[in-house]
Amino acid sequence: MIILGELELKVKKTKIRKDDKVIVIAGRDKGKIGKVLSVDLKKGRLFVENVNVVKRHSKPTAQAPQGGIIEKEASLDISNVMIVCNKCAEPTRIGFRTSSDNITYRVCKKCNEMIDG
Ligand SMILES: [Zn+2]
Repeated sequence: MIILGELELKVKKTKIRKDDKVIVIAGRDKGKIGKVLSVDLKKGRLFVENVNVVKRHSKPTAQAPQGGIIEKEASLDISNVMIVCNKCAEPTRIGFRTSSDNITYRVCKKCNEMIDG
């Protein structure tokens, strides 16, 4: 339960969602920028397009009777990426702002522009 709590905190802090643009800040692919393909909130991990690509041997199928090597993204720890702002193009942290009609949206902490929409 404690571990889950820590993960929830981590996910809350990062606020990264599918289709966000992120930069890798640690690990083998440090400095790479890509689009978030999916986020696993429970594990605190995410998949980023063309980042952390690993080669895997696939089993023979009807299409490829010999089997083969496929390249596929492996998941990254959510703390190893930062969101990249669409407006100022800087890696940034995310803040929240609530509009007058009570919609909460994410803002870039560097330029204060909306990240959503
Ligand atoms: Zn910005």
